Amino acid sequence: MKLFIATLSTETNTFCTMPTAMSGFEEYFLRHGTATQDPPNLMTEALHIWRARAEDLGWEVVESLAAIAEPAGLTTRACYDALSGEILADLAACGGADIILLQLHGAMVAEHIEDCEGDILARVRAQCPQATIGVSLDLHCHLTEKMLDASDLAILFKEYPHDDAGPCAVALFDLAHKAHQGLISPRMAMYDTRMVNLYLTKTGAMQDFVSDMTALEAQPGVLSVSLSHGFPWADVADVGARMLVVTDGNQALAEGLAQQMGQRFFDLRNAVTTRYVPITEALTAIDQTAGLSVLADMGDNSGGGAPGDATHLLSAMLDRGMTNFASGIIWDPGVVRICQDAGIGSQLVIRLGGKTGVVSGTPLDVAAKVMNICVGMGQHLGEGEEPLGTLVWLRLANDIDLLVNDLRVQVYHPEAFEQVGIRLSEKSAVAVKSLFHFYGPFSQISNHIVQVASPGGTQPEFRNIQLKKRRVPFWPAVDQPFDEEPAACLT
Ligand SMILES: [Zn+2]
Repeated sequence: MKLFIATLSTETNTFCTMPTAMSGFEEYFLRHGTATQDPPNLMTEALHIWRARAEDLGWEVVESLAAIAEPAGLTTRACYDALSGEILADLAACGGADIILLQLHGAMVAEHIEDCEGDILARVRAQCPQATIGVSLDLHCHLTEKMLDASDLAILFKEYPHDDAGPCAVALFDLAHKAHQGLISPRMAMYDTRMVNLYLTKTGAMQDFVSDMTALEAQPGVLSVSLSHGFPWADVADVGARMLVVTDGNQALAEGLAQQMGQRFFDLRNAVTTRYVPITEALTAIDQTAGLSVLADMGDNSGGGAPGDATHLLSAMLDRGMTNFASGIIWDPGVVRICQDAGIGSQLVIRLGGKTGVVSGTPLDVAAKVMNICVGMGQHLGEGEEPLGTLVWLRLANDIDLLVNDLRVQVYHPEAFEQVGIRLSEKSAVAVKSLFHFYGPFSQISNHIVQVASPGGTQPEFRNIQLKKRRVPFWPAVDQPFDEEPAACLT
C-alpha cells in the first residue's frame, strides 16, 4: 500500500494589491518532502499524523511538497504553476499511489485560476483515476463542485480558531482507509447557505452548531459533516458558507442533510455572527474597564491578507491620549532594519506603518526607544508553533509599547509580546492585529475582549463588500437572499 501526502496553503484576499509569490512561501514555510522532519504547524500537522498512521500499518509513504504562505493578494502564475506542478511531478515520479491525502487551504486564487484547489484535485484525479483521494481543508475555503467531483472525501476543520486540524486529519485518514478497502462508499453533497461572514466557534450558538455537526456524524450512514465558513475577502464565484455532508453510499441522504443543516445555519445567522464595535465606541469602553482590555484590530489582519501595517486603530489610541498600552504586530521591515542598525537602547524618530497603500492609513512619525530586538522567535497556534520573523520592541512616551516585525503574521498568542519583554499584565490595553485566532490564549489573561471594526484590508463590514463574481444573493448584502433570484450568468 502506498500513501502520497502533500500540503499547499495560502488564503487569497483578492482585494489585496500585494501579490503572493514564491518569496511568501520561502519566508513562511517551504519544504520539498521533508516537512515531517520539522515540528508540526497548523497546515503540516496532518502530514505528521498521516505518515505516523501509515507507517504503523506498514505502508510506503511518499511525502511531497509542504508550502505555506501568509495570505496576501493573487498568487502569481509562476508561483502557482511551480508549486502545483511539483506535487503532480512527485506523484508521477513515484508511479502514483493507492491513497492520496492532501492538506490544502481551499481559498487560494491565482492570477489565472480562481479555484486552485479544485484545479489541483482535478489534475491529481486525472493522473491517478483509481486512487482514493482525500482532502482536508481549512474552513475558510471556497467549497466548489470541482473539488468534490475530483475527490472521494473532503473534510473541513470545524473549529475557528482552528485547533482541530489533528482530529480532522485522523478522521480523513480512517475514512480514506475504509473507502480504499471497500468498507464504505462515500457520497458527498453541499448546500449554499447564502451567507458571507465570520463565525467564531468557541461560544454560544456557533459552539452549539459545531456540537450538532459532530453529533450528526454519529448517526447511521453519516460519515462526516462540515461547514465551510468561506473566506469573505475574495471576489470569486463560490465565496460564502456551505454545508458539506458525506454519507455512506446514500446521495439523497447527503443532499437532504446538507440542505437541512444549511438552512438551520441560515436561520441562526444573527446568533452565530459577532457584533464588531466601531473604534470610538471600543476605546470609550476601555476607559470604563479595569484591568487589561484586548482590542482586535480586525481590519488589518495579515492572516486574512491585509498588509499588517495599518495605523487606523493605533492613531485613534494615540489621538485619544491613551497611555500604558501595547500594540502589534506592525509589519514594517524598513523600521526593523533601521532599529537593527541603530541597536538596542537607541532613541529614534521613525516613520512607522501606513506604507503599503491606502488601506493602511497614514504613517505615524514617532519618537521611540529601541527596547529589544529578537530574532527567530515563534508563537503558538494550538499545539504548533508559527514563525514571527525579527521582532522589535519600541517604547514611546507614556509607557506605550509597540511590537514591530519584518514578517507578515497575525497575533496568535500573548507570548508574541511577552518574549521580547512587554509585560501585558501591567498594561491597560493591548491592540492585536488579528481576527479571532488570538481569542483563546488572550482570554486567559483578559476578560474584556473587543472585536473592533477598524478600516483596512480585512474590514468586517460584509454588507458593503464588493463581491461581483458571486451570482447568488447573500446575507448580509440582502436581508432575504433565498427570496431573490440569482443574477443572470455573465459572459
Ligand atoms: Zn482559516
